[in-house]
Amino acid sequence: MRKYLSTEDAIGYIVGEYIYYECTNCEVVVYSYPVYKDSCACGNIEAVAMTSTVTIKDKNKYKVFEDR
Ligand SMILES: [Zn+2]
Repeated sequence: MRKYLSTEDAIGYIVGEYIYYECTNCEVVVYSYPVYKDSCACGNIEAVAMTSTVTIKDKNKYKVFEDR
């Protein structure tokens, strides 16, 4: 079940086994904890496993949710 998390006071982007990012521009869901890397179709969101980071270009066009 998806539980959307608040992004209002986010300092950086959380990464985890149950954390997903949804791009509201292209509507693709990116897993924050990929094997190598994952990104959405428009390139707004990119998750990189090696550095455990999520990069978001347009901070007004994403949602983050937990799904376990
Ligand atoms: Zn996108």
